Amino acid sequence: MKNVAILGSTGSIGTQTLDVIRHNDDLNLVAISAGSNIALLEEQIREFHPQLVAVWSEGKAHELRDAISDVTPTCKVVSGMDGLLQVATIESSDILVTAIVGMIGIQPTIAAIKAGKDIGLANKETLVTAGHIIMPLAKENNVSILPVDSEHSAIFQCLNGECDNKISKILLTASGGPFRGMSRKDLELVTLEMALKHPNWAMGKKITIDSATMVNKGLEVIEAKWLFDVNASDIEVVVQPQSIIHSMVEFEDGAVMAQLGTPDMRLPIQFALYYPKRVSLDGKRLDFSTLREITFQKPDMDTFLGLKYAYQALEIGGSMPTVMNAANELAVAKFLNKKVRFLEIYDMIGFCMEQHKVIENPTVEEILETEQWVYETIESRWIS
Ligand code: NDP
Repeated sequence: MKNVAILGSTGSIGTQTLDVIRHNDDLNLVAISAGSNIALLEEQIREFHPQLVAVWSEGKAHELRDAISDVTPTCKVVSGMDGLLQVATIESSDILVTAIVGMIGIQPTIAAIKAGKDIGLANKETLVTAGHIIMPLAKENNVSILPVDSEHSAIFQCLNGECDNKISKILLTASGGPFRGMSRKDLELVTLEMALKHPNWAMGKKITIDSATMVNKGLEVIEAKWLFDVNASDIEVVVQPQSIIHSMVEFEDGAVMAQLGTPDMRLPIQFALYYPKRVSLDGKRLDFSTLREITFQKPDMDTFLGLKYAYQALEIGGSMPTVMNAANELAVAKFLNKKVRFLEIYDMIGFCMEQHKVIENPTVEEILETEQWVYETIESRWIS
């Protein structure tokens, strides 16, 4: 039996993780958390009977306690950052799936690693901003960081059994998002509704916008650097619009390994939960008799600045990836609230990166201070 805790159980990755648990008797849910969706949390408590639940605001936690007062065995409801830390470190868990969105995942992920929990990592913002802290800490605590992001799971699967064979290049695939092929002029006119329509994947709102700006692919480049210990120059983004190849690895003898499949996040989630075992998963299979084409393109980094900024942030290093990520988090929140236009997301990231004085090797406190500096910088310039 493997005991699982989930940060962000009400989101896209969280609910798909629960679906994997629902279909496998040897997986057991012990703790969950969410921001504010207590209606769905209540359903999850009634179905899975976790021991512990965290809700961000104490007010909502109070409401949830009332709503589940008839549930037995009883479930403890906690709140705030302390609640997230309790879920992340609960004694009974073997693995924590970090399906929470944003840099808020940093402290719980670090606490879980220190408590010796393996991490099924979906929450890429944590690795982007604190990869230099998380990866050595995981090694020190003998904890596995198992990628859940489909591209990184694909790379991880391609590397399975390759032992010390040298990677010459990581080929990170990208769908190109809903605006692939558009010019900067076209992007001036795109709306929130258009940006929320991803051609291949159904995901949470923030990552869907990140896919439209290609900031998501940029964050994934940084994530790949930390997960697979490669240089930025050895990570090449390849646009593959059908999302059939989930990523590839080129080895030093020129061999290229790829992982293919239909777009279904339950596969990488399940692979992380059962690694190194594969178990049965229902769902669509690739049908090569009807598959018409797999095509490739170079990414347009001059139009989709998200990718360009990520390579720059990675090259500069230190606190710069935090600046890029934090500026994007606030810019996307403003875009989702229709306070700014699509291209202003790039303006905000670019402005903050230009203004920032880099801190080498930032501590967690310095990362969080940098996040705060970014928010203040944006708020003072873009008065909404
Ligand atoms: P969603 O927006 O669908 O879900 C986010 C989850 O985080 C929800 O459970 C939400 O709770 C919770 N949450 C948000 N804010 C807080 C808070 N302050 N305190 C506690 N919980 C909070 O996101 P996704 O599932 O799409 O993405 C999650 C992570 O996985 C992201 O880092 C994303 O980049 C990554 N990822 C996602 C993929 C996907 O297919 N969706 C693919 C690869 C990576 P509530 O519902 O109450 O708001």
